[in-house]
Amino acid sequence: MSSPSLTRFVRSSLEELKQNGLFNQIDALQGGNGPTIRIKDRSLINLSSNNYLGLASDERLIAAAEKALRQYGVGAGAVRTINGTMEIHGELEAKLARFKQTESAIAYQSGFNCNMAAISAVMDAGDAILSDELNHASIIDGCRLSKAKVIRYKHSDMEELERVARAARESGQYAKIMVITDGVFSMDGDIAKLPEIVAIAERYDLITYVDDAHGSGVLGEGAGTVKHFGLSDRVDFQIGTLSKAIGVVGGYVAGKQELIEWLKARSRPFLFSTATPPAIAAACVAALDILMDSTELQARLWRNAEYFRQGLEQLGFRTGHTETPIIPCIIGEEKQTQRFSRELLAEGVYAKAIVFPTVPKGLGRIRNMPTAAHTTAMLDEALAVYGKVKKRIGLE
Ligand SMILES: *Cc1c(COP(=O)(O)O)cnc(C)c1O
Repeated sequence: MSSPSLTRFVRSSLEELKQNGLFNQIDALQGGNGPTIRIKDRSLINLSSNNYLGLASDERLIAAAEKALRQYGVGAGAVRTINGTMEIHGELEAKLARFKQTESAIAYQSGFNCNMAAISAVMDAGDAILSDELNHASIIDGCRLSKAKVIRYKHSDMEELERVARAARESGQYAKIMVITDGVFSMDGDIAKLPEIVAIAERYDLITYVDDAHGSGVLGEGAGTVKHFGLSDRVDFQIGTLSKAIGVVGGYVAGKQELIEWLKARSRPFLFSTATPPAIAAACVAALDILMDSTELQARLWRNAEYFRQGLEQLGFRTGHTETPIIPCIIGEEKQTQRFSRELLAEGVYAKAIVFPTVPKGLGRIRNMPTAAHTTAMLDEALAVYGKVKKRIGLE
């Protein structure tokens, strides 16, 4: 028998979600997450994955994973600091450092985990963190875990950042101050103003922390947003994920040798959670080899993104102020946006609606992420469906 108070809590909370239209029905894929996906025996054009470069089902990654599976087995068997560190983990970290052009790197089991690990390894009570209001949930949780005072600033508002930085520094209350930001913001596809952020950081001695989950593999010829702005040696923490453009799973911090050494000694998910399975690490190594060898996939990604964005705009849709392959199609009102997404699905296009409270009220949108793996024919088909649904719903 379960606790009556738990039953009451869970039941009423679920009910509330459903009433507010916030309950998410999860559909299982019958196969891989590629440019098309199969759900309930229907093939759909997929515009909702983070698999930017199509690497999630790339044969070269699969072959590398299979080989490592035979060599090392399925599981790592221990945390990194006991004896779960295999040579393939070292190889992955060395490659990540080269990829990001930093002295060193540390790999974690996920990007989420990475933010749980890295922030609290250096920030504590008595410190302050200046955090963009649109930062990812894992950054928010990571900050909370650190016990530092969190000071939010308006999204990409550099005047406000400067103001809070100066106030925090002049107050003399904080031993260390960090500024933390997404490299690319996942709801609008806009890029953090890193040159300004770094300049402010240098003025007020702020630790700089950039979570580039959506920028790595996408911007800066693959190396990410920091490289895109030529700031590789002026950002302390470059966080990345191996779960989006890299197509597998995992997270990492790239930075100075000493910092990485400290994270290996002190970050809790590294110390207390089993190491990434070796086959996963091997697949990531194979992906990095591909990215460092050629920028062909990035070129294809950007071409497809530009093609799709222009197509939407020709149909009369607003796409906001995206600067990356994340392409919002602004519909507006919440229920209308949900309906739009359902109609797309009925016509064979999988593209999720994103509405309040994830984005501001009245700015509901369908978020599209075309990838390098989409063909022009797929994008044309998706655009035709957008046009058809727009007419059917009677949007202006
Ligand atoms: C997706 C994302 C993460 C989480 O990465 P996972 O590897 O999927 O755990 C962390 N930070 C940001 C900014 C993200 O967009």
